[in-house]
Amino acid sequence: MTKVITRFAPSPTGVLHIGSVRTALYSWLYARQNNGKFILRIEDTDKERSKKEFEENIIDGLNWLGLNHDEFFRQSDRAVFYKERIIELIAKGAVYVSKEEPKELGERAEVIRFKNPNKVVTFRDEVRGDISFDTTEFGDFVIAKDFDTPLYNFAVVVDDFDMGVTHIIRGDDAISNTPRQILIQEALGAPRPIYTHLPMILAPDKSKLSKRHGALAVTEYREEGYLPEAILNFVALMGWNPGNDQELLSMDEMVKLFSLEKVQKGGAVWNIDKLKWFNKHYMKLLSQENAGKEILARFPDALREKAKANSKIFEKIISVILDHISAFGDARAFAEAGEYDYFFEDPTYNRESLLWKDESDASVASQKLQKVLALIDNIDEAFFVPETIKTAIWDYATEAGRGSVLWPMRYALSGRDKSPDPFTLASILGKEVTIRRIKDAIKLLLI
Ligand code: GLU
Repeated sequence: MTKVITRFAPSPTGVLHIGSVRTALYSWLYARQNNGKFILRIEDTDKERSKKEFEENIIDGLNWLGLNHDEFFRQSDRAVFYKERIIELIAKGAVYVSKEEPKELGERAEVIRFKNPNKVVTFRDEVRGDISFDTTEFGDFVIAKDFDTPLYNFAVVVDDFDMGVTHIIRGDDAISNTPRQILIQEALGAPRPIYTHLPMILAPDKSKLSKRHGALAVTEYREEGYLPEAILNFVALMGWNPGNDQELLSMDEMVKLFSLEKVQKGGAVWNIDKLKWFNKHYMKLLSQENAGKEILARFPDALREKAKANSKIFEKIISVILDHISAFGDARAFAEAGEYDYFFEDPTYNRESLLWKDESDASVASQKLQKVLALIDNIDEAFFVPETIKTAIWDYATEAGRGSVLWPMRYALSGRDKSPDPFTLASILGKEVTIRRIKDAIKLLLI
């Protein structure tokens, strides 16, 4: 049995996108599953469009995701090998130097062309089955601009041959290149790898997936506070499933369960809410310490300082924050909107806000808060947790009208229309601050 060798072969003409991650992941999973080898190959034959910064972005993104490679190649380092093969094929009569009409004055008037045998090429694709192309229409296609400048289709075939690639897993936009590549393979006497062309990932409206659908570069997801586990799990299921409804899959499980045969024929449809769902799940599996770090990193400076100075409070709000975000980056937006300020400093608000719905009598509201204050004051500091606070107030609130009791209490504590429930708030703030804020609210109502 030959060892399985797969490769991910991005062109560094753009950042690492989520669609390419799927190609990389499937290739990686298949190699790992078969104790094979996973190669990363940077395909930078297009000198004008290839950029070092994109190469760095791709490698950075793959490392972050944990899609580690066993071998690394860069096509621009391999010019000598392409040249050798061109010379070999010229000797065989399979390619030739072709004199061209220069398009512009002074332009090179030679290219290297492949002598097309003009036949029908049929290959098996693991997703689509047999695919046939009549290659006659390609004519004698160009494989290199000159001996030192191979074109993409040629470099790919030489590389896959030299590197012993057994399985090519790539996007189905490469299908039309496959017959040309097979003709070159045959001329070189290279074995034919097994092809799996993955159907495109489509936007929900079946259009081309783009940024406006929330499809970002991997490094942007990292910035936004998505976790690698979530991205990999989400991406794995776009176009493949383990044959049952299991959705939460660790990398180990994916390595075990992945199969090329189960890759779906239909285009996978992008669903940002699903990615958020996965991310929420994996965020909650993080330790409190790590979740705290991720959140702090996204706080504006002033809030971060306050959170550090009040670490006890900050520790208590981590789970509250996690309940309301689907990526750590959301905490930045909430923080910037002032949603967390009241945890660290007394809120300011106008007295009307304290009044529940159509309550217009401030003295009634203040009486209710007086009663809440008395009930809270009875609770031992050591038992100042949401359940106890709720138990202390609940019967009274039920009797006097829950909204009219709990709304002003909550507002007194947060000064915001939306916030966690008043029992959670009180327990986070602690007895002393809770009492102070309720007293301040009563004062405001009595002005
Ligand atoms: N460099 C090609 C691309 O980025 C790779 C195609 C292939 O995997 O053969 O589309």
